Amino acid sequence: MAAKTHLFPCLSDNFCVLIHDPATGATASIDAPEAAPVEAALKETGWKLTDILVTHHHADHTAGVGELKQKYNCRVVGPVSDKFRAVDETIREGQTLKVGNLTGRVLETPGHTLDHISYIFDADKICFLGDTLFSIGCGRVIEGTPAQMWNSLLKLRALPDGMQFFCGHEYTQANIKFALTIEPDNKALVARAKEVDALRAAGKPTIPATIGAEKEANCFLRADIASVAAAVGMAGKPAADVFTEIRARKNKF
Ligand code: ZN
Ligand code: FE
Repeated sequence: MAAKTHLFPCLSDNFCVLIHDPATGATASIDAPEAAPVEAALKETGWKLTDILVTHHHADHTAGVGELKQKYNCRVVGPVSDKFRAVDETIREGQTLKVGNLTGRVLETPGHTLDHISYIFDADKICFLGDTLFSIGCGRVIEGTPAQMWNSLLKLRALPDGMQFFCGHEYTQANIKFALTIEPDNKALVARAKEVDALRAAGKPTIPATIGAEKEANCFLRADIASVAAAVGMAGKPAADVFTEIRARKNKF
C-alpha cells in the first residue's frame, strides 16, 4: 500500500510532515520542531506515532523529540552527530530503514550542517530533505563548505524527476524574489512565482514540489548551466564556484 503524508506548520515558518503506512499503521514524523503541533496532527489523522526521523541537529527540527519520545515511546532515528545524540538508531548513507512496511534510505547531505541527512522513499516517490533543498532555494551553509553543499544538491538533483520532496521551511516566496534576480527570464521560475503567489494567497503550503520541476526553476540546482554562470559574471567557471557566488548573493539579499 502506498504511503500517506500529512503536512503541517510548526513554529513560525517550519514544516513538519508525517509519513504513514496504511498497511501496518506505522507513522513517522520527519523532524519534530515542537511537540504540540505533532500531537494535534496525530489526533487529526488518527495515526499513532511509531518513529521520528531526524534530518539534522538544529533545535527548530529537534526540540520536540524528547517530549514525543516520552509520550509515545517511539523510535528516534537520526544521523551520526556530535550535536544531537538523543537517537535510538543512527543511519548512514547506503543504509535503509523501515517505517512499517515502507522502505526509506538515506543520503548524507552535509553543508547546512555537517550531520545533515535526507530520507528517500523510492517506492513511494517521496523524499524529505530538511534544510538542504528548499523550493527555489537551499539551506544556508552554516557548518560545511559551499562546495560540500553543491555536492549534496547534486545528489538530490539526481533523484527521479517525478519524486516529490518535502523541506523544512516555507521560504518559497522569498526564495523566488531572489531567484528572479539571477534568472528573470526563466519561464519555469516565472510560472512557479505565479503558482506560489496563488497558493500563499489561499493560505496553502507551497510544498511538496517535484525534483523535475525544481531542476527547471531553482537557480541553486542550476549552477552548472552556462546561462546561470553568465548571469553572475562567471561564464566558464567551475559549478561549485558559481554556486558559492549565488549562495553568497542570497545571504546578502
Ligand atoms: Zn537547520
Ligand atoms: Fe531549520
